Amino acid sequence: MRHQLYAEHLEQLNLVAEQLALSATIPEVLDQVAVCAENLVGAKRVSYCELEPDGENIRLIGLVGNVKDQTGELVSLEESGLSPAFTTGRGRYVNILEHAHTAKGRSLRSSGLNHVWSLPIICDGDIEGVVNIASPSFELHTDDAYSVVETLSRLTGSTIERIKARQQTELVLLQLVRQSTTDELTGLCNRTGFRRRLQDSINEAQTQAGKVGVMYLDLDLFKLINDSLGHTVGDAVLAVVARRIEEVLEPAHTVARIGGDEFIILLPGETEVDKLQRIASTIVDAIKQPVTVGSFELEVSASVGVCRFPDDGGSVDDLVKNADIAMYRAKDLGRNQVHFYTSELGVALSRQIELGRALQGAIRNNEIYLVYQPQIDITTGCIVSIEALLRWKHPEKGNIPPDVFIPIAETSGMITELTNRVLEHALNALADWHQIQPDLRIAINVSAREFSGSSTLYKRVTAALEYSGLPASVLELELTETALLSHPEQAAELVHQLSNAGIRLALDDFGTGYASLSYLIQLPIDTIKIDRSFVNGLEHDQCKQAVVNGIFTIAADMQLVCVGEGVETNAQLDWLQQKGCQYAQGFLISKPLSEADLSESLARQAFRHDSPGINTFTGIRPI
Ligand code: C2E
Ligand code: CA
Ligand code: CA
Repeated sequence: MRHQLYAEHLEQLNLVAEQLALSATIPEVLDQVAVCAENLVGAKRVSYCELEPDGENIRLIGLVGNVKDQTGELVSLEESGLSPAFTTGRGRYVNILEHAHTAKGRSLRSSGLNHVWSLPIICDGDIEGVVNIASPSFELHTDDAYSVVETLSRLTGSTIERIKARQQTELVLLQLVRQSTTDELTGLCNRTGFRRRLQDSINEAQTQAGKVGVMYLDLDLFKLINDSLGHTVGDAVLAVVARRIEEVLEPAHTVARIGGDEFIILLPGETEVDKLQRIASTIVDAIKQPVTVGSFELEVSASVGVCRFPDDGGSVDDLVKNADIAMYRAKDLGRNQVHFYTSELGVALSRQIELGRALQGAIRNNEIYLVYQPQIDITTGCIVSIEALLRWKHPEKGNIPPDVFIPIAETSGMITELTNRVLEHALNALADWHQIQPDLRIAINVSAREFSGSSTLYKRVTAALEYSGLPASVLELELTETALLSHPEQAAELVHQLSNAGIRLALDDFGTGYASLSYLIQLPIDTIKIDRSFVNGLEHDQCKQAVVNGIFTIAADMQLVCVGEGVETNAQLDWLQQKGCQYAQGFLISKPLSEADLSESLARQAFRHDSPGINTFTGIRPI
């Protein structure tokens, strides 16, 4: 009889084991345990306790038959009488009848409970908690009862172990997912996370005929901060910018950092142009407030491009691309502003892409060639230098000006190839012209891109010079203030290297950039080319005269040579000469010429030198 009963209870344990295998949460497991304890030993009260981190108290989770729901209640470990179970890991059975004199015993007896089992739940060798089972009476032999409840506690332990292991795996997976969608530096969403959220917003908007706003934000001249003050300062600025953007946004919006200094903002449901404009302007204003990093107080600004789903794009790729295009337009318009995407902008970009492709073919098919514009010494009227200028004659579109194709070559990376060709052709032509005029110099324009961090310009220029067999002093490189500003440290180093090699350096379009004079003074510049916009109308405009006069004074102090660019009238040339400007270049003297035409001009000039009486090569202005 005893054995049969025991076997029946083991059968019940088998059943509960199957159910436990299906349980997914710890409360579910404990519920199964409570029901099973009722079946096994007629339990009327079942509870589960866990030790608190302080090691002094236990937290009670009432399962079955507790007077009130005691879940979460704290009980002192000592008073609970469970200390042995928690410390030794051994279970125990108490017959209350034998403990009727204790307070606990009296309380249990008054509830009609005569037997209590306290069984530790052991997971991974640690005591996870203790199950307390109290019963008025039970059918089994005492030893058998202990054996089945102990088996139940072991089953519980292994089930909890399995659930915890799974929860741990899920946690790790969740962390991995979070890491893969989070930008480490700012804690914002990253590109992957952003694309996912944008796709979700598009899907939702599609089902509800809703809209989505997307903003692309890029910091202006951020490289300057990074290059001059270092990445630690740069990173701190990015973190401040991230917080400032977040502060402007509403909870439904998401901001992500998707690249160095590029942020993108998702605004689900935002359709009103006015509201988007307001949000974007508030962000631009917030970023403009000075940023303090250590002892530096920095000024940062941002350009923002805005587009909307579905008006400006139907997919994640299109929306990101079009917001980016609008952002570039904001930069073109002078930075620190907001611009909305329009289809015209998209068309302009497609044209650029088309031209970019055509340019690759053009380089291969020799549609690109050079023209040469003379620079004269104003006092003698003699050609002293030649500026090489690129031309592109497209078979269908005709002449495409360098102002259009050079920026395309710059963004598509083809500028290096172009500079190489210009160097090679121009030095080759100069070697021929040296047969006529051995002291003639050549000026070559160098793109700002060539002054980036990883520039190979020095190597390429010196190699081209060596190949041509010409001395370095015949070559002048024309660079703009922007070239010096975008990567100041690398640019300064490169300028020194070139100058040390004996190559002359000219600051082109002087006065149109933002370089500070104190910065320029430190660089070994030989020539300042006064921008055409100052020369144009110079003869009547006192304001321009004052600026140009100022430039001459500084140039004289620094022993720099000045060239007046874009000289179109005799009055301009006169004014420049009176003020001591040494050189001039412009349509008045000569338009850019083909190699053959320039050879002719040089030959004429040489002939004049040999023939006293003819003292000007242009015939425009007797000197
Ligand atoms: P830039 O370096 O300032 O070149 C001078 C520009 O002014 C040339 O335009 C020239 O034709 C024009 N110009 C000269 N004299 C006069 C004048 O009296 N009046 C007027 N209205 N214009 C005059 P171009 O050839 O169209 O070149 C435009 C710009 O394209 C150049 O400006 C330069 O920044 C860039 N560029 C040209 N060739 C190259 C090159 O080989 N490499 C690079 N990186 N840039 C180049
Ligand atoms: Ca130039
Ligand atoms: Ca110029």
